[in-house]
Amino acid sequence: MLLIARTYRRIAALSLAGAAALLASATQPQPTRDDLARNNKLFLAGAIKTLKWEQPAEPAHIVGPIYFVGTQGLGSYLFHTSDGLILLGTGMPSSGPMIAQSIRKLGFRPEDIKILLTWHAHADHAGALAYFKTLSGARIAMMEGDVASMEDGGKSDFHYGWDWQTMGWPAAKVDQVLHDGDTVTLGNVTLTALNTPGHTRGDTTWVTTVTDHGKSYKVVWPDGTSVNPGYRVTTNPSYPGIGDDYRRTLARLEALRPDIWLVSHTDRFNLDAKRARAVKLGAAAYVDPEGYRQYIASQRAAFDQEVAREKAAPPDDDGVRRGPAS
Ligand SMILES: [Zn+2]
Repeated sequence: MLLIARTYRRIAALSLAGAAALLASATQPQPTRDDLARNNKLFLAGAIKTLKWEQPAEPAHIVGPIYFVGTQGLGSYLFHTSDGLILLGTGMPSSGPMIAQSIRKLGFRPEDIKILLTWHAHADHAGALAYFKTLSGARIAMMEGDVASMEDGGKSDFHYGWDWQTMGWPAAKVDQVLHDGDTVTLGNVTLTALNTPGHTRGDTTWVTTVTDHGKSYKVVWPDGTSVNPGYRVTTNPSYPGIGDDYRRTLARLEALRPDIWLVSHTDRFNLDAKRARAVKLGAAAYVDPEGYRQYIASQRAAFDQEVAREKAAPPDDDGVRRGPAS
């Protein structure tokens, strides 16, 4: 099980080409990266199980107004501002009540959420936006390139849209369309939305500066770099320009210099280890500029591996189904 978990983690975040080799080394037959590319149900079910996307987790204070309220595998972040709450990321469609419970455990009311945000329109980060919008009446703000997909529950996603019955989620109306560099402000908290496309067109990296015990921290949620099984970034690209989008996104993320970095997937920034240290150290436990640099470098390496893998393979012969059978 550990091996499978590690494999999925690598597939999701790190070594795409290495995943197949890793899988081949398993004693039991395991799905290969190509198996996952061809079978969204298998990919989703495996990720939910091995990466604990739907397992409950304890909420935690991170820094200043920012709290973790996600599941074991998926990040959701609550901002307690002077004018109500912001929720960034919702996990899977089924996770709404679990996240609401975590918010209550911290002493806040999910009904007081005023603004709903996420990184990109996929089921694991936008799945419960509709739930929270109904619960709180909050407005959803989302980057231009992902608005259509959010509003049709994933039917217009460039890669998974044809298989929306597997990969989709409850649709919700977007109230505010964001553009690159726009800010979202509630009370004393302002978040800047950087469009970092690739993983989706409207993928968004969030940046903010917060204060904790008189100290100022730049906090970044990098997103947009993951190349999912079945994506094509060079020949026969998943969407025109996707390769250049990834390259620009990586360069942009490399130029950021956060004190604290948090991610939509908890295993990518060692949340468990950091929150354990935070019991004694407080916000200082999350300060990790070198970890950020290494993470983005690993994302670049994974992208470069994907480019090399595609170049070595015939352009139209990867066997991935990207539309309904005709
Ligand atoms: Zn995604």
